[in-house]
Amino acid sequence: MTLDDRGPDGRSTDVESGAGTPSWLAASLNYCSNCGGELQLGPVEGEERHRLACGSCGHIAYVNPRLVVTCLPLTRAGELVLIRRGLEPGKGLWAQPGGFLEVDETVTEGLIRETFEETGLVVAPGEIVGLYSRLEAAVVVLAVEATVVDGSPRVTAEALDVRAFRAEAIPWPQIAFKTTYWALVDWLALRHPELRPPPRSRHIGR
Ligand SMILES: [Zn+2]
Repeated sequence: MTLDDRGPDGRSTDVESGAGTPSWLAASLNYCSNCGGELQLGPVEGEERHRLACGSCGHIAYVNPRLVVTCLPLTRAGELVLIRRGLEPGKGLWAQPGGFLEVDETVTEGLIRETFEETGLVVAPGEIVGLYSRLEAAVVVLAVEATVVDGSPRVTAEALDVRAFRAEAIPWPQIAFKTTYWALVDWLALRHPELRPPPRSRHIGR
């Protein structure tokens, strides 16, 4: 267990690996998308683990995590832009802009789109800061540093406030998510190794 309470591989979850499809997700996987037959979990020839397969046509419903792309935008002054979330989960708390990558866009396009939607800022994505698994949510969260190149901060339903913080002034007790906390810790280690982040607050959610 490290200082910031994550496993040795950086995964950010309380769920054990190898526990199968999370129950909330399994509950939505009842019928075959090919023929409408019932899906059943069990051994499938040629597969090394149990799969959801259709009893009628044999179609296999593979279940894989989705990618959440998130951005750590930096101003010219080197300040980090965070948004105060307007929606649950984490309403009223601070997080980096981001969201699900769409199937027809690249990671870079997704980062630019999500950041613009939530902040009004146009960014140029740069280095990868971290990549975090959340098994309980079936997502992988990518955090990428970016440079603000255009636009102006804009408040929306998604973002009650858009604010740039000096590295010394990151609002640690009001961080929305574990993955935000870990991305900020990793960014600090990369750019401001002289600064030590506080331990993660217990109230910090997902
Ligand atoms: Zn089927």
